[in-house]
Amino acid sequence: MSQTADQTSAKKVLLAAPRGYCAGVDRAVVTVEKALELYGPPVYVRKQIVHNKHVVTTLEKRGAIFVDETDEVPEGATVIFSAHGVAPVVHDEARARSLKTIDATCPLVTKVHREAVRFADDDFDILLIGHEGHEEVVGTSGEAPEHITLVDGPDDVDNVTVRDPEKVVWLSQTTLSVDETMETVARLKEKFPALQSPPSDDICYATQNRQLAVKQMAKDTDLMIVVGSRNSSNSVRLVEVALEHGARAGHLVDFADEIQPEWLEGVSTVGVTSGASVPEVLVRDVLAWLAERGYGEVEPVVAAEESLLFSLPRELRRDLKARDGSDAGTVRHDAAFEESGSLH
Ligand code: SF4
Repeated sequence: MSQTADQTSAKKVLLAAPRGYCAGVDRAVVTVEKALELYGPPVYVRKQIVHNKHVVTTLEKRGAIFVDETDEVPEGATVIFSAHGVAPVVHDEARARSLKTIDATCPLVTKVHREAVRFADDDFDILLIGHEGHEEVVGTSGEAPEHITLVDGPDDVDNVTVRDPEKVVWLSQTTLSVDETMETVARLKEKFPALQSPPSDDICYATQNRQLAVKQMAKDTDLMIVVGSRNSSNSVRLVEVALEHGARAGHLVDFADEIQPEWLEGVSTVGVTSGASVPEVLVRDVLAWLAERGYGEVEPVVAAEESLLFSLPRELRRDLKARDGSDAGTVRHDAAFEESGSLH
């Protein structure tokens, strides 16, 4: 479609902040990098370390081998558990094969595991709100399989039964839509009025902040481009949140070259954000692609400031300390990829 001079001058990008890497992803990616540096390749990783194609292929080139299960790892080798967490049985399997394990489970996922164990010890029925088959849900459910029932969205509430409606609590996956989860909880409360809530939010700060930024800009956005992979729960949620809050169109792309030029027809304002597992270089590629097509003006939309950092896994810190004599165990948010997009 041809653009008038006015339409051309009105073209701009709203760029969400925060976006991209969260503290848990940064820690997990740096864990693989440091393990490769310290032990030398190959280093095995159970499941994708984080749900992002670019991150996985970049680490593969450096010597990481991604496997689905621990029985694919040679006896005695080093295996890293991904940011999404694992069930206790996976630790048992690794021990039985004499594997050296490094657990890169995000501490905010571990927090949900601990809540599950505590409520199961108190003999609660736990209603875990989450997406069936997602690795995080599989890991959390594995902490107390007899006590946990998965609730996959508001429409699943009708199917839920519990042993004692007076002793029931809900927990959730960390990367859900905040609004949809609250809708599920409201329906559960109608069914089980004594339903208890988790001691603190299970949907993590990063998921909430990225959704908040998208909500703020969606109504002013003709097209929302979310950079992220299809198996990244929090990235997929960002497209849904954008559409629910007024964006006229929304698409998820792994790379800039997946953007279809026809998406820009009649579009003045493009919103850009990225999921919590997405390195910033991929966003810069999208901004460059848009700038080449007249969307060079970029206006930030800042919904929150983030400064959270996590220490590297204890097992890795111990080995790094043995090598270096110092504890360089804290990772820096957003530091895992250099300008070039290669891992450092
Ligand atoms: S999205 Fe949240 S729970 Fe998942 S790794 Fe990042 S901080 Fe942790």
